[in-house]
Amino acid sequence: MLNLEKLIGNLRHQADWLGIREVRETSKHLICRNGKFDHCYTLIDHGCVIEALVDGQFAYSATNLLSPQGLQEACDRAVFLAKNTSAWKIFPFHTGCRLKAKGQFKPVHQLSLNPTTAGDVTTLLLDATQKMSISDKIVNCTAQAILAEQEMNLVSSSGSAIHQNLSFVTTNLSATAQEGLETQTRSTGIPSHQGGYELLRKEDLEREAERIGYQALELLKAEQCPTGNYDLILAPDQVYLQVHESIGHPLELDRILGDERNYAGWSFVNLSDFGSLQYGSPLLNVTFDPTVAGEFASYAFDDTGLEAQRQYIIKDGLLVRGLGGVDSQKRAKVPGVACTRASSWNRPPIDRMANLNIEPGETSFLEMVASVEQGIYMTTNSCWSIDDYRRKFQFGCEYGQLIENGKLTKVIKNPNYRGITTPFWNNLKKVGNASTFEILGSPYCGKGEPNQLIRVGHAVPTCLFENIEVFGGSA
Ligand SMILES: [Zn+2]
Repeated sequence: MLNLEKLIGNLRHQADWLGIREVRETSKHLICRNGKFDHCYTLIDHGCVIEALVDGQFAYSATNLLSPQGLQEACDRAVFLAKNTSAWKIFPFHTGCRLKAKGQFKPVHQLSLNPTTAGDVTTLLLDATQKMSISDKIVNCTAQAILAEQEMNLVSSSGSAIHQNLSFVTTNLSATAQEGLETQTRSTGIPSHQGGYELLRKEDLEREAERIGYQALELLKAEQCPTGNYDLILAPDQVYLQVHESIGHPLELDRILGDERNYAGWSFVNLSDFGSLQYGSPLLNVTFDPTVAGEFASYAFDDTGLEAQRQYIIKDGLLVRGLGGVDSQKRAKVPGVACTRASSWNRPPIDRMANLNIEPGETSFLEMVASVEQGIYMTTNSCWSIDDYRRKFQFGCEYGQLIENGKLTKVIKNPNYRGITTPFWNNLKKVGNASTFEILGSPYCGKGEPNQLIRVGHAVPTCLFENIEVFGGSA
């Protein structure tokens, strides 16, 4: 990494404020299939972005030429762009939008990914594909891992100095079973956490591999999910995507302000809804929480240098705060959070949801099931669809079970449900307690033009919704 504090002092510029953010990330991607090594590659990404404020306008220039001359050229471009576009600025920003910040964030891992060889991980993944293959009817077994380490340094002309060091592990196991014309896939989803090699435990991978192999076979014989209105219990590995799509994205302030409108990215939420919209039932408590150890999008500062803190977004069902960083907060005049983030050094930071969690409630899983006379339990997302305004959605899951007279009974295949965002969350009837709570996440949240794939975390409990439209078949 560069000595940014020295470099920024040597840059010649006439900006009112200047910042440099350096990002270096190394990621290993490994895939095994059907007891054989499939492929593996390593990506190394390293560069800097310079942000300049001139006459109330921010502009950026990124470079992977990391010499003093390369950085000076990027600095000149950022200042030129800010100066020459300030006549058309949408908001007069000022140096108070980039206050001095100092601090660091260290990885939570016990075992560094650094010395982890591709061979060690491949052995674990090969073993997992073999454990999934419990029958001739299992026709495809895939095991995948992504291991990434990232360093981010940020300095500014106002004296900021931030260093963040992050370490990420994502896995995915998937088994497909086939008999005649029927094909069913069962997977682990994409468990994603901050941490190190300790997250890749042979016993855990083997147990999960056997479970999904067995459940893929169960689905081959299962009846179709019924169609009708039912009480619906969603496992955390479906709740997390429901939160992501129907709470996270519509509450991103840049969407509400219209920045994402040309990219299927508007929102049904209006700025006047903050403080007044009953988004969900009084049981719904949603927090933006970048402080959870091991959650995928934990950090100490966002990419503008704003210190990240836990905040309620929805409190007792009421919408109280938006998912917008300092620039959007100034423009929208509503409270937000430290969530201005870029996917790497070569993209500008925009409003991203980071860790967005549902706080656990008081009901155990068994109590939740016992309270349902006629219902459906669904687990692990398989597909989703939601409109530009994030209002009307439908989701499909891999594996379902009927709930009859307070008991889980038959396994059902191809379970789906649909709804409209605020009526759906207002039908939240019970929230699982800490024993149902899982820390999940994804490396694949897409947004922005040019596109930015970024990591998000969602820690959520099992949830029960009443009177939801459920249907069977491929969604
Ligand atoms: Zn997303």
